Amino acid sequence: MKEKEEELNSIIMELRKKLEALQEKFTKEGLDKLEALDSLAREKDSKVAAERLQASLSEELKRTQQDSASANQKIQSLNDMYKRLQEYNTSLQQYNTRLQSEFAATNEMLKRVEKEKAAVVENLSTLSGHYTSLQEQLTSSRVLQDEAIKQKEALGNEVVCLRGDLQQARDDRDCWLLRVQTLSAEVERYKECTGKSFAELDNLTVKSKELESTCLSQSEQIRRLLEQLAFAEKKLQLSDVSAMETKIQFEEQKALLLDLKSRLADAELKIVEGEKVRKKLHNTILELKGNIRVFCRVRPLLSDDDVGTDAKVISFPTAMDALNRGIDLIQNGQKHSFTFDKVLTPEASQEDVFVEISQLVQSALDGYQVCIFAYGQTGSGKTFTMMGKPGIPDQKGLIPRSLEQVFETRQTLQSQGWKYEMQVSMLEIYNETIRDLLATNRLGFDAPRAENMGKQYAIKHDANGNTHVSDLTVVDVHSSKEVSYLLELAAHSRSVGKTQMNEQSSRSHFVFTLRIFGINEVNGPFLLSVASWS
Ligand code: ADP
Ligand code: MG
Repeated sequence: MKEKEEELNSIIMELRKKLEALQEKFTKEGLDKLEALDSLAREKDSKVAAERLQASLSEELKRTQQDSASANQKIQSLNDMYKRLQEYNTSLQQYNTRLQSEFAATNEMLKRVEKEKAAVVENLSTLSGHYTSLQEQLTSSRVLQDEAIKQKEALGNEVVCLRGDLQQARDDRDCWLLRVQTLSAEVERYKECTGKSFAELDNLTVKSKELESTCLSQSEQIRRLLEQLAFAEKKLQLSDVSAMETKIQFEEQKALLLDLKSRLADAELKIVEGEKVRKKLHNTILELKGNIRVFCRVRPLLSDDDVGTDAKVISFPTAMDALNRGIDLIQNGQKHSFTFDKVLTPEASQEDVFVEISQLVQSALDGYQVCIFAYGQTGSGKTFTMMGKPGIPDQKGLIPRSLEQVFETRQTLQSQGWKYEMQVSMLEIYNETIRDLLATNRLGFDAPRAENMGKQYAIKHDANGNTHVSDLTVVDVHSSKEVSYLLELAAHSRSVGKTQMNEQSSRSHFVFTLRIFGINEVNGPFLLSVASWS
Protein backbone atom coordinates (compact mmCIF):
# COMPACT_ATOMS: atom_id res chain seq x y z
CA MET A 1 0.00 0.00 0.00
CA LYS A 2 2.88 2.24 1.01
CA GLU A 3 4.60 1.50 -2.14
CA LYS A 4 1.48 2.23 -4.02
CA GLU A 5 0.98 5.44 -2.03
CA GLU A 6 4.52 6.53 -2.88
CA GLU A 7 3.96 5.69 -6.44
CA LEU A 8 0.75 7.63 -6.43
CA ASN A 9 2.43 10.52 -4.65
CA SER A 10 5.17 10.59 -7.20
CA ILE A 11 2.51 10.52 -9.88
CA ILE A 12 0.73 13.37 -8.12
CA MET A 13 4.06 15.27 -7.91
CA GLU A 14 4.63 14.67 -11.52
CA LEU A 15 1.12 15.77 -12.33
CA ARG A 16 1.56 18.88 -10.21
CA LYS A 17 4.76 19.66 -12.02
CA LYS A 18 2.99 19.16 -15.27
CA LEU A 19 0.19 21.39 -14.06
CA GLU A 20 2.68 24.07 -13.10
CA ALA A 21 4.30 23.78 -16.44
CA LEU A 22 0.96 23.97 -18.12
CA GLN A 23 -0.03 26.97 -16.00
CA GLU A 24 3.23 28.65 -16.96
CA LYS A 25 2.60 27.86 -20.56
CA PHE A 26 -0.92 29.21 -20.26
CA THR A 27 0.32 32.50 -18.81
CA LYS A 28 2.85 32.73 -21.58
CA GLU A 29 0.19 32.02 -24.16
CA GLY A 30 -1.99 34.74 -22.52
CA LEU A 31 0.87 37.18 -22.84
CA ASP A 32 1.44 36.16 -26.47
CA LYS A 33 -2.24 36.63 -27.11
CA LEU A 34 -2.14 40.15 -25.66
CA GLU A 35 0.90 40.94 -27.74
CA ALA A 36 -0.84 39.59 -30.82
CA LEU A 37 -3.93 41.72 -30.11
CA ASP A 38 -1.68 44.73 -29.73
CA SER A 39 -0.01 44.12 -33.02
CA LEU A 40 -3.38 43.49 -34.63
CA ALA A 41 -4.55 46.94 -33.46
CA ARG A 42 -1.35 48.44 -34.88
CA GLU A 43 -1.85 46.59 -38.12
CA LYS A 44 -5.39 48.00 -38.31
CA ASP A 45 -4.09 51.52 -37.82
CA SER A 46 -1.50 51.09 -40.46
CA LYS A 47 -4.09 49.54 -42.75
CA VAL A 48 -6.34 52.61 -42.30
CA ALA A 49 -3.39 54.87 -42.99
CA ALA A 50 -2.51 52.82 -46.03
CA GLU A 51 -6.11 53.10 -47.29
CA ARG A 52 -6.01 56.85 -46.85
CA LEU A 53 -2.71 57.00 -48.68
CA GLN A 54 -4.21 54.85 -51.40
CA ALA A 55 -7.22 57.19 -51.71
CA SER A 56 -5.00 60.26 -52.00
CA LEU A 57 -2.78 58.43 -54.45
CA SER A 58 -5.72 57.51 -56.67
CA GLU A 59 -6.86 61.14 -56.63
CA GLU A 60 -3.43 62.21 -57.68
CA LEU A 61 -3.46 59.54 -60.35
CA LYS A 62 -6.73 60.94 -61.68
CA ARG A 63 -5.27 64.43 -61.82
CA THR A 64 -2.19 63.12 -63.57
CA GLN A 65 -4.37 61.30 -66.09
CA GLN A 66 -6.26 64.51 -66.79
CA ASP A 67 -2.99 66.38 -67.22
CA SER A 68 -1.70 63.75 -69.57
CA ALA A 69 -4.96 63.89 -71.59
CA SER A 70 -4.63 67.65 -72.05
CA ALA A 71 -0.96 67.25 -72.89
CA ASN A 72 -1.95 64.65 -75.48
CA GLN A 73 -4.45 67.07 -76.94
CA LYS A 74 -1.78 69.72 -77.17
CA ILE A 75 0.57 67.27 -78.85
CA GLN A 76 -2.22 66.38 -81.23
CA SER A 77 -2.87 70.03 -82.15
CA LEU A 78 0.86 70.64 -82.51
CA ASN A 79 1.06 67.64 -84.81
CA ASP A 80 -1.82 69.06 -86.86
CA MET A 81 -0.13 72.41 -87.07
CA TYR A 82 3.12 70.72 -88.12
CA LYS A 83 1.25 68.82 -90.83
CA ARG A 84 -0.43 71.99 -92.05
CA LEU A 85 2.96 73.71 -92.11
CA GLN A 86 4.44 70.83 -94.04
CA GLU A 87 1.57 71.05 -96.52
CA TYR A 88 2.07 74.77 -96.81
CA ASN A 89 5.76 74.22 -97.34
CA THR A 90 5.07 71.64 -100.07
CA SER A 91 2.63 73.98 -101.79
CA LEU A 92 5.24 76.75 -101.63
CA GLN A 93 7.81 74.41 -103.14
CA GLN A 94 5.34 73.45 -105.85
CA TYR A 95 4.64 77.09 -106.53
CA ASN A 96 8.36 77.74 -106.78
CA THR A 97 8.85 74.80 -109.18
CA ARG A 98 5.90 76.00 -111.24
CA LEU A 99 7.40 79.46 -111.43
CA GLN A 100 10.75 78.03 -112.46
CA SER A 101 9.24 75.77 -115.09
CA GLU A 102 7.13 78.67 -116.38
CA PHE A 103 10.30 80.72 -116.55
CA ALA A 104 12.11 77.96 -118.47
CA ALA A 105 9.13 77.52 -120.82
CA THR A 106 9.00 81.24 -121.50
CA ASN A 107 12.71 81.30 -122.22
CA GLU A 108 12.27 78.40 -124.63
CA MET A 109 9.33 80.08 -126.29
CA LEU A 110 11.41 83.20 -126.61
CA LYS A 111 14.20 81.25 -128.26
CA ARG A 112 11.74 79.53 -130.61
CA VAL A 113 10.16 82.80 -131.54
CA GLU A 114 13.58 84.32 -132.15
CA LYS A 115 14.49 81.42 -134.42
CA GLU A 116 11.22 81.78 -136.27
CA LYS A 117 11.85 85.48 -136.59
CA ALA A 118 15.32 84.84 -138.01
CA ALA A 119 13.82 82.38 -140.54
CA VAL A 120 11.10 84.83 -141.46
CA VAL A 121 13.63 87.64 -141.83
CA GLU A 122 15.76 85.44 -144.11
CA ASN A 123 12.75 84.45 -146.16
CA LEU A 124 11.76 88.06 -146.34
CA SER A 125 15.16 89.12 -147.57
CA THR A 126 15.19 86.47 -150.34
CA LEU A 127 11.67 87.47 -151.29
CA SER A 128 12.64 91.10 -151.36
CA GLY A 129 15.51 90.10 -153.70
CA HIS A 130 13.06 88.23 -155.86
CA TYR A 131 10.64 91.12 -155.66
CA THR A 132 13.31 93.58 -156.77
CA SER A 133 14.31 91.37 -159.72
CA LEU A 134 10.66 91.01 -160.72
CA GLN A 135 10.19 94.71 -160.47
CA GLU A 136 13.23 95.20 -162.68
CA GLN A 137 11.78 92.69 -165.15
CA LEU A 138 8.49 94.52 -165.02
CA THR A 139 10.17 97.85 -165.62
CA SER A 140 12.14 96.44 -168.56
CA SER A 141 9.03 94.87 -170.09
CA ARG A 142 7.22 98.14 -169.56
CA VAL A 143 10.01 99.90 -171.40
CA LEU A 144 9.75 97.29 -174.16
CA GLN A 145 5.99 97.74 -174.24
CA ASP A 146 6.39 101.50 -174.45
CA GLU A 147 8.86 101.06 -177.28
CA ALA A 148 6.49 98.69 -179.08
CA ILE A 149 3.64 101.15 -178.63
CA LYS A 150 5.80 103.92 -179.98
CA GLN A 151 6.83 101.72 -182.90
CA LYS A 152 3.19 100.84 -183.45
CA GLU A 153 2.27 104.49 -183.44
CA ALA A 154 5.10 105.28 -185.84
CA LEU A 155 4.05 102.42 -188.06
CA GLY A 156 0.42 103.59 -187.88
CA ASN A 157 1.53 107.07 -188.85
CA GLU A 158 3.57 105.61 -191.65
CA VAL A 159 0.58 103.53 -192.76
CA VAL A 160 -1.59 106.64 -192.73
CA CYS A 161 1.06 108.48 -194.76
CA LEU A 162 1.38 105.56 -197.10
CA ARG A 163 -2.38 105.34 -197.42
CA GLY A 164 -2.43 109.03 -198.23
CA ASP A 165 0.37 108.42 -200.74
CA LEU A 166 -1.51 105.45 -202.15
CA GLN A 167 -4.68 107.49 -202.46
CA GLN A 168 -2.66 110.20 -204.06
CA ALA A 169 -1.08 107.67 -206.41
CA ARG A 170 -4.52 106.21 -207.18
CA ASP A 171 -5.89 109.64 -207.79
CA ASP A 172 -2.86 110.37 -209.93
CA ARG A 173 -3.37 107.09 -211.75
CA ASP A 174 -7.04 107.82 -212.25
CA CYS A 175 -6.15 111.25 -213.39
CA TRP A 176 -3.49 109.82 -215.65
CA LEU A 177 -5.86 107.17 -216.94
CA LEU A 178 -8.38 109.87 -217.57
CA ARG A 179 -5.77 111.83 -219.36
CA VAL A 180 -4.69 108.69 -221.28
CA GLN A 181 -8.23 108.19 -222.22
CA THR A 182 -8.71 111.76 -223.26
CA LEU A 183 -5.35 111.61 -224.97
CA SER A 184 -6.27 108.33 -226.67
CA ALA A 185 -9.52 109.92 -227.70
CA GLU A 186 -7.53 112.89 -228.88
CA VAL A 187 -5.11 110.53 -230.68
CA GLU A 188 -8.02 108.84 -232.23
CA ARG A 189 -9.26 112.21 -233.14
CA TYR A 190 -5.86 113.16 -234.41
CA LYS A 191 -5.58 109.86 -236.22
CA GLU A 192 -8.85 110.48 -237.62
CA CYS A 193 -8.09 114.09 -238.18
CA THR A 194 -4.54 114.01 -239.25
CA GLY A 195 -3.22 110.49 -238.97
CA LYS A 196 0.13 112.05 -238.10
CA SER A 197 0.84 112.05 -234.43
CA PHE A 198 2.10 108.41 -234.07
CA ALA A 199 5.32 109.38 -232.43
CA GLU A 200 3.45 111.35 -229.83
CA LEU A 201 1.16 108.48 -229.34
CA ASP A 202 4.04 106.10 -228.69
CA ASN A 203 5.44 108.54 -226.25
CA LEU A 204 2.19 108.71 -224.43
CA THR A 205 1.87 104.95 -224.38
CA VAL A 206 5.31 104.68 -222.74
CA LYS A 207 4.30 107.26 -220.19
CA SER A 208 1.13 105.42 -219.40
CA LYS A 209 3.10 102.17 -218.95
CA GLU A 210 5.50 103.91 -216.63
CA LEU A 211 2.63 105.19 -214.60
CA GLU A 212 1.12 101.76 -214.41
CA SER A 213 4.40 100.26 -213.14
CA THR A 214 4.69 103.04 -210.51
CA CYS A 215 1.17 102.24 -209.44
CA LEU A 216 2.08 98.55 -209.13
CA SER A 217 5.21 99.20 -207.07
CA GLN A 218 3.22 101.46 -204.78
CA SER A 219 0.60 98.75 -204.27
CA GLU A 220 3.44 96.37 -203.41
CA GLN A 221 4.80 98.87 -200.89
CA ILE A 222 1.34 99.25 -199.34
CA ARG A 223 1.06 95.47 -199.00
CA ARG A 224 4.44 95.29 -197.31
CA LEU A 225 3.49 98.08 -194.97
CA LEU A 226 0.28 96.33 -194.08
CA GLU A 227 2.21 93.18 -193.32
CA GLN A 228 4.60 95.14 -191.13
CA LEU A 229 1.64 96.67 -189.36
CA ALA A 230 0.11 93.26 -188.68
CA PHE A 231 3.44 92.01 -187.34
CA ALA A 232 3.80 95.06 -185.07
CA GLU A 233 0.27 94.57 -183.79
CA LYS A 234 1.01 90.93 -183.03
CA LYS A 235 4.17 91.93 -181.20
CA LEU A 236 2.23 94.48 -179.23
CA GLN A 237 -0.32 91.87 -178.24
CA LEU A 238 2.44 89.53 -177.12
CA SER A 239 4.08 92.19 -175.02
CA ASP A 240 0.68 93.05 -173.55
CA VAL A 241 0.25 89.42 -172.53
CA SER A 242 3.72 89.21 -170.96
CA ALA A 243 3.11 92.51 -169.14
CA MET A 244 -0.12 91.08 -167.82
CA GLU A 245 1.65 87.95 -166.61
CA THR A 246 4.35 89.99 -164.93
CA LYS A 247 1.70 92.07 -163.29
CA ILE A 248 -0.07 88.98 -161.93
CA GLN A 249 3.23 87.60 -160.67
CA PHE A 250 3.99 90.94 -159.11
CA GLU A 251 0.61 90.98 -157.36
CA GLU A 252 1.24 87.48 -156.04
CA GLN A 253 4.64 88.44 -154.70
CA LYS A 254 3.14 91.54 -153.16
CA ALA A 255 0.50 89.45 -151.35
CA LEU A 256 3.20 87.03 -150.17
CA LEU A 257 5.29 89.94 -148.99
CA LEU A 258 2.36 91.39 -147.08
CA ASP A 259 1.66 87.99 -145.51
CA LEU A 260 5.30 87.62 -144.49
CA LYS A 261 5.35 91.13 -143.15
CA SER A 262 2.31 90.44 -140.99
CA ARG A 263 3.88 87.20 -139.78
CA LEU A 264 7.06 89.05 -138.98
CA ALA A 265 5.06 91.62 -137.06
CA ASP A 266 3.33 88.79 -135.19
CA ALA A 267 6.65 87.16 -134.39
CA GLU A 268 8.05 90.48 -133.23
CA LEU A 269 5.01 91.00 -131.05
CA LYS A 270 5.51 87.54 -129.60
CA ILE A 271 9.15 88.31 -128.88
CA VAL A 272 8.16 91.49 -127.14
CA GLU A 273 5.55 89.64 -125.13
CA GLY A 274 8.03 86.90 -124.27
CA GLU A 275 10.51 89.55 -123.24
CA LYS A 276 7.85 91.15 -121.02
CA VAL A 277 7.12 87.80 -119.37
CA ARG A 278 10.84 87.18 -118.86
CA LYS A 279 11.21 90.60 -117.30
CA LYS A 280 8.28 89.99 -115.00
CA LEU A 281 9.53 86.57 -113.94
CA HIS A 282 13.10 87.80 -113.43
CA ASN A 283 11.91 90.62 -111.26
CA THR A 284 9.42 88.38 -109.43
CA ILE A 285 12.34 86.12 -108.54
CA LEU A 286 14.29 89.14 -107.32
CA GLU A 287 11.24 90.30 -105.36
CA LEU A 288 10.91 86.84 -103.82
CA LYS A 289 14.55 87.13 -102.77
CA GLY A 290 13.73 90.50 -101.25
CA ASN A 291 13.76 93.96 -102.78
CA ILE A 292 16.17 95.21 -100.18
CA ARG A 293 19.02 92.88 -99.37
CA VAL A 294 21.73 93.52 -96.85
CA PHE A 295 25.11 91.83 -97.19
CA CYS A 296 27.98 91.94 -94.74
CA ARG A 297 31.56 91.75 -96.02
CA VAL A 298 34.45 91.18 -93.63
CA ARG A 299 37.81 92.27 -95.01
CA PRO A 300 41.04 90.42 -94.16
CA LEU A 301 43.30 91.89 -91.49
CA LEU A 302 45.91 94.24 -92.90
CA SER A 303 49.51 94.53 -91.70
CA ASP A 304 48.87 97.95 -90.16
CA ASP A 305 45.72 96.88 -88.36
CA ASP A 306 46.22 97.06 -84.60
CA VAL A 307 45.07 93.58 -83.66
CA GLY A 308 46.11 93.68 -79.95
CA THR A 309 46.22 90.62 -77.76
CA ASP A 310 42.54 89.78 -77.97
CA ALA A 311 41.57 86.33 -79.06
CA LYS A 312 39.58 85.99 -82.23
CA VAL A 313 36.56 88.31 -82.04
CA ILE A 314 34.79 87.28 -85.22
CA SER A 315 33.53 83.81 -86.08
CA PHE A 316 31.16 82.42 -88.64
CA PRO A 317 28.57 79.91 -87.39
CA THR A 318 28.43 76.66 -89.34
CA ALA A 319 24.96 75.55 -88.23
CA MET A 320 22.72 74.85 -91.20
CA ASP A 321 20.31 77.74 -90.54
CA ALA A 322 23.07 80.34 -90.19
CA LEU A 323 25.57 79.02 -92.75
CA ASN A 324 26.89 81.88 -94.95
CA ARG A 325 24.33 84.17 -93.31
CA GLY A 326 25.42 84.54 -89.71
CA ILE A 327 28.29 86.26 -87.95
CA ASP A 328 29.20 86.09 -84.24
CA LEU A 329 31.12 88.87 -82.50
CA ILE A 330 32.68 88.60 -79.07
CA GLN A 331 32.90 91.77 -77.00
CA ASN A 332 34.05 91.77 -73.38
CA GLY A 333 33.57 88.02 -73.28
CA GLN A 334 29.99 88.33 -74.45
CA LYS A 335 28.82 86.86 -77.73
CA HIS A 336 26.56 88.84 -80.12
CA SER A 337 25.06 87.07 -83.12
CA PHE A 338 23.86 88.80 -86.30
CA THR A 339 22.18 87.47 -89.43
CA PHE A 340 22.27 89.01 -92.94
CA ASP A 341 21.04 87.96 -96.37
CA LYS A 342 24.61 86.93 -97.00
CA VAL A 343 27.89 87.14 -95.11
CA LEU A 344 31.08 87.33 -97.17
CA THR A 345 34.13 86.11 -95.29
CA PRO A 346 37.63 87.62 -95.65
CA GLU A 347 38.44 84.95 -98.23
CA ALA A 348 35.60 86.12 -100.56
CA SER A 349 36.97 87.50 -103.83
CA GLN A 350 35.63 90.54 -105.71
CA GLU A 351 34.04 88.09 -108.18
CA ASP A 352 32.21 86.34 -105.29
CA VAL A 353 30.77 89.69 -104.23
CA PHE A 354 29.76 90.58 -107.79
CA VAL A 355 27.95 87.25 -108.28
CA GLU A 356 25.55 88.30 -105.51
CA ILE A 357 24.51 91.54 -107.24
CA SER A 358 24.94 90.76 -110.93
CA GLN A 359 21.23 90.01 -111.40
CA LEU A 360 20.47 93.60 -110.46
CA VAL A 361 22.23 94.75 -113.62
CA GLN A 362 19.68 92.86 -115.71
CA SER A 363 16.92 94.59 -113.73
CA ALA A 364 18.48 97.97 -114.50
CA LEU A 365 18.44 97.18 -118.23
CA ASP A 366 14.80 96.08 -117.82
CA GLY A 367 13.90 99.55 -116.57
CA TYR A 368 14.06 99.15 -112.83
CA GLN A 369 15.87 101.58 -110.57
CA VAL A 370 18.77 99.92 -108.80
CA CYS A 371 20.91 101.29 -106.01
CA ILE A 372 23.98 99.68 -104.46
CA PHE A 373 24.96 101.32 -101.22
CA ALA A 374 28.17 100.57 -99.30
CA TYR A 375 28.24 101.52 -95.64
CA GLY A 376 30.96 101.09 -93.02
CA GLN A 377 33.60 102.82 -91.00
CA THR A 378 36.67 104.35 -92.61
CA GLY A 379 39.13 101.71 -93.75
CA SER A 380 36.58 98.91 -93.68
CA GLY A 381 36.78 98.34 -97.45
CA LYS A 382 33.95 100.33 -99.08
CA THR A 383 36.10 101.85 -101.83
CA PHE A 384 37.86 98.51 -102.35
CA THR A 385 34.49 96.79 -102.77
CA MET A 386 32.94 99.38 -105.06
CA MET A 387 35.95 100.45 -107.17
CA GLY A 388 38.61 97.80 -106.50
CA LYS A 389 42.26 98.36 -107.23
CA PRO A 390 42.85 100.05 -110.57
CA GLY A 391 45.12 98.08 -112.89
CA ILE A 392 44.59 94.70 -111.23
CA PRO A 393 41.83 92.95 -113.19
CA ASP A 394 41.17 90.34 -110.46
CA GLN A 395 40.53 93.09 -107.94
CA LYS A 396 38.11 95.15 -110.01
CA GLY A 397 35.22 96.34 -107.90
CA LEU A 398 31.45 96.23 -108.32
CA ILE A 399 31.21 99.42 -110.42
CA PRO A 400 33.56 98.36 -113.26
CA ARG A 401 32.18 94.81 -113.22
CA SER A 402 28.56 96.04 -113.38
CA LEU A 403 29.44 98.37 -116.25
CA GLU A 404 31.12 95.58 -118.20
CA GLN A 405 27.98 93.51 -117.80
CA VAL A 406 25.75 96.44 -118.81
CA PHE A 407 27.73 96.98 -122.03
CA GLU A 408 27.82 93.23 -122.81
CA THR A 409 24.08 92.83 -122.26
CA ARG A 410 23.44 95.93 -124.36
CA GLN A 411 25.17 94.15 -127.24
CA THR A 412 22.95 91.07 -126.99
CA LEU A 413 19.73 93.08 -126.59
CA GLN A 414 20.46 94.98 -129.80
CA SER A 415 19.11 92.04 -131.80
CA GLN A 416 15.73 92.52 -130.07
CA GLY A 417 15.47 96.08 -131.28
CA TRP A 418 16.88 97.71 -128.17
CA LYS A 419 19.07 100.77 -128.39
CA TYR A 420 20.67 102.09 -125.25
CA GLU A 421 22.38 105.33 -124.41
CA MET A 422 24.39 105.73 -121.23
CA GLN A 423 25.28 108.79 -119.23
CA VAL A 424 27.63 108.96 -116.30
CA SER A 425 27.89 111.50 -113.54
CA MET A 426 29.99 111.42 -110.38
CA LEU A 427 29.84 113.56 -107.33
CA GLU A 428 31.25 113.74 -103.86
CA ILE A 429 29.46 114.95 -100.77
CA TYR A 430 32.11 116.55 -98.66
CA ASN A 431 31.27 118.45 -95.48
CA GLU A 432 27.60 118.46 -96.51
CA THR A 433 28.54 120.13 -99.83
CA ILE A 434 28.16 118.59 -103.27
CA ARG A 435 31.29 118.61 -105.45
CA ASP A 436 31.19 117.70 -109.14
CA LEU A 437 34.00 115.19 -109.74
CA LEU A 438 33.81 115.49 -113.52
CA ALA A 439 33.82 119.32 -113.69
CA THR A 440 36.57 120.67 -115.95
CA ASN A 441 39.12 123.27 -114.78
CA ARG A 442 39.25 121.83 -111.31
CA LEU A 443 41.23 124.03 -108.99
CA GLY A 444 42.10 121.37 -106.46
CA PHE A 445 40.83 120.24 -103.15
CA ASP A 446 40.74 123.58 -101.35
CA ALA A 447 38.79 125.46 -103.96
CA PRO A 448 35.36 123.92 -104.16
CA ARG A 449 33.73 127.35 -104.01
CA ALA A 450 35.69 128.82 -106.89
CA GLU A 451 34.94 125.84 -109.04
CA ASN A 452 31.27 125.86 -108.15
CA MET A 453 30.95 129.56 -108.90
CA GLY A 454 27.48 130.27 -110.15
CA LYS A 455 26.53 126.61 -109.92
CA GLN A 456 23.77 125.50 -107.64
CA TYR A 457 24.02 121.83 -107.04
CA ALA A 458 20.51 121.02 -105.89
CA ILE A 459 19.03 117.55 -105.52
CA LYS A 460 15.75 117.26 -107.42
CA HIS A 461 13.26 114.44 -107.81
CA ASP A 462 11.16 114.36 -110.97
CA ALA A 463 7.69 112.91 -111.47
CA ASN A 464 9.12 109.58 -112.72
CA GLY A 465 10.88 108.99 -109.44
CA ASN A 466 14.30 109.84 -110.86
CA THR A 467 16.76 111.86 -108.85
CA HIS A 468 18.90 114.54 -110.49
CA VAL A 469 21.48 116.98 -109.29
CA SER A 470 21.23 120.26 -111.16
CA ASP A 471 24.32 121.76 -112.88
CA LEU A 472 26.14 118.44 -112.60
CA THR A 473 28.47 117.44 -115.46
CA VAL A 474 26.92 114.53 -117.38
CA VAL A 475 29.11 112.59 -119.82
CA ASP A 476 27.82 110.32 -122.59
CA VAL A 477 29.64 106.99 -122.57
CA HIS A 478 29.82 104.24 -125.17
CA SER A 479 32.15 101.63 -123.64
CA SER A 480 33.30 100.43 -120.26
CA LYS A 481 36.79 101.71 -121.11
CA GLU A 482 35.51 105.27 -121.25
CA VAL A 483 33.90 104.75 -117.86
CA SER A 484 37.14 103.36 -116.39
CA TYR A 485 38.92 106.49 -117.56
CA LEU A 486 36.26 108.69 -115.94
CA LEU A 487 36.48 106.68 -112.71
CA GLU A 488 40.24 107.25 -112.59
CA LEU A 489 39.69 110.95 -113.18
CA ALA A 490 37.16 111.05 -110.37
CA ALA A 491 39.41 109.07 -108.01
CA HIS A 492 42.09 111.74 -108.47
CA SER A 493 39.58 114.49 -107.81
CA ARG A 494 38.34 113.05 -104.53
CA SER A 495 39.06 115.17 -101.51
CA VAL A 496 40.63 112.73 -99.15
CA GLY A 497 43.36 110.16 -99.57
CA LYS A 498 44.19 107.34 -97.24
CA THR A 499 46.79 109.31 -95.30
CA GLN A 500 44.41 111.98 -94.11
CA MET A 501 42.64 111.99 -90.81
CA ASN A 502 39.75 109.68 -90.20
CA GLU A 503 37.54 112.53 -89.17
CA GLN A 504 37.95 114.16 -92.57
CA SER A 505 37.80 110.93 -94.47
CA SER A 506 34.50 109.96 -92.96
CA ARG A 507 32.95 113.19 -94.22
CA SER A 508 33.57 112.24 -97.85
CA HIS A 509 30.93 110.25 -99.69
CA PHE A 510 31.17 109.24 -103.32
CA VAL A 511 28.13 108.86 -105.62
CA PHE A 512 28.47 107.27 -109.04
CA THR A 513 25.38 107.39 -111.27
CA LEU A 514 24.83 105.59 -114.55
CA ARG A 515 21.70 106.67 -116.35
CA ILE A 516 20.49 104.25 -119.03
CA PHE A 517 18.14 105.38 -121.81
CA GLY A 518 16.59 102.38 -123.52
CA ILE A 519 14.63 102.75 -126.76
CA ASN A 520 12.66 100.02 -128.46
CA GLU A 521 10.66 100.66 -131.65
CA VAL A 522 7.79 98.65 -130.19
CA ASN A 523 7.76 99.93 -126.63
CA GLY A 524 8.89 103.49 -127.20
CA PRO A 525 11.56 105.34 -125.20
CA PHE A 526 11.87 105.36 -121.46
CA LEU A 527 14.47 106.17 -118.85
CA LEU A 528 16.38 103.58 -116.89
CA SER A 529 19.04 104.12 -114.31
CA VAL A 530 21.55 102.43 -112.05
CA ALA A 531 23.07 104.34 -109.21
CA SER A 532 25.82 103.27 -106.90
CA TRP A 533 26.95 104.97 -103.73
CA SER A 534 30.07 104.45 -101.69
P1 ADP B 1 37.03 102.65 -97.01
O1 ADP B 1 36.75 103.09 -98.38
O2 ADP B 1 35.90 101.94 -96.38
O3 ADP B 1 37.54 103.75 -96.14
P2 ADP B 1 39.14 101.15 -98.25
O4 ADP B 1 38.37 100.52 -99.32
O5 ADP B 1 39.98 102.29 -98.61
O6 ADP B 1 38.19 101.54 -97.06
O7 ADP B 1 39.98 99.98 -97.57
C1 ADP B 1 41.03 100.22 -96.66
C2 ADP B 1 42.21 99.32 -96.98
O8 ADP B 1 41.86 97.95 -96.85
C3 ADP B 1 42.71 99.51 -98.38
O9 ADP B 1 44.13 99.46 -98.40
C4 ADP B 1 42.18 98.29 -99.12
O10 ADP B 1 43.06 97.92 -100.18
C5 ADP B 1 42.16 97.23 -98.04
N1 ADP B 1 41.07 96.28 -98.23
C6 ADP B 1 39.77 96.53 -98.03
N2 ADP B 1 39.02 95.43 -98.28
C7 ADP B 1 39.89 94.47 -98.65
C8 ADP B 1 39.76 93.09 -99.07
N3 ADP B 1 38.55 92.48 -99.12
N4 ADP B 1 40.86 92.40 -99.37
C9 ADP B 1 42.08 92.99 -99.32
N5 ADP B 1 42.27 94.26 -98.95
C10 ADP B 1 41.22 95.01 -98.62
MG1 MG C 1 36.77 104.99 -99.18
